[in-house]
Amino acid sequence: MSKVVILGSSNAIPTKDHENTHMVIVGEERVLLVDSVSNPILRLEQAGVDFNDLTDIIITHFHPDHASGIPLLLMDMWLMGRKRPLNIYGLHYTLDRVETLMGLYNWSEWPNFFPVVFYRIPANEMSPVLDCPDFTVHASPVHHMIPNIGLRINFKQSQRSMSYSCDTEPCDEVVRLSEGVDVLIHEATGESVGHTSAKQAGEIARKAEVGSLYLIHYPTGKFAKGDLVAEACTTFPGCVALANDFMVLDFDKASCVENPATVTLAINSHITYGTGELK
Ligand SMILES: [Zn+2]
Repeated sequence: MSKVVILGSSNAIPTKDHENTHMVIVGEERVLLVDSVSNPILRLEQAGVDFNDLTDIIITHFHPDHASGIPLLLMDMWLMGRKRPLNIYGLHYTLDRVETLMGLYNWSEWPNFFPVVFYRIPANEMSPVLDCPDFTVHASPVHHMIPNIGLRINFKQSQRSMSYSCDTEPCDEVVRLSEGVDVLIHEATGESVGHTSAKQAGEIARKAEVGSLYLIHYPTGKFAKGDLVAEACTTFPGCVALANDFMVLDFDKASCVENPATVTLAINSHITYGTGELK
């Protein structure tokens, strides 16, 4: 079992139906949270994933809409009596600040706190992050206002793959990171410093020759404008869809996603992952 659940799809300003962008990757052995926003246990619970089953967390960068949920998540795990270690991965810049943030909460004095192991990722292209029986994760630096990483995940059993640009201007690092993936999840905040438009995301998808493009981290609610999917379709000939909260991408299927919207609807109807399945 390898699936990715989108827990939030909004840019920095969330709305009721669109939380800040973050996602969870659920395998047989490992459950990996990518970014920790607000209090992530709420979205995880709604997605049927017990937050205590998390084994690993990647913090892409130290902006509040990606990292501010760390203290609450760790505190809630501690209050629920967690004993087993938790791995947290990020760039030096990011993890130095996460540790400082936790220091402000005096976490070293929280009694019987479970082990948290920090893994600092070098700021090199395709740096190995995680290799487990379900999947491998590699990271590459991308172009944002502060140090940030995009991710590539290869699912071992199905030989399928996805990449996630995170917050970035259009850049060759994401093209190389995404080369030939089945699914590219690319931000579409809009053309601005450190960000990308839907049209530009389509160009990246075309250059990387990906199977399908999912747009994420886009303006929602009253800030939403235009038809982002149509914009991306002007530059990318493959399937394009908007990532939405609680959308599930099933990477067990060997074939490429032919019609993301249809597959999403079908998969959404059977979100069955529960704590009992975790080994
Ligand atoms: Zn962001």
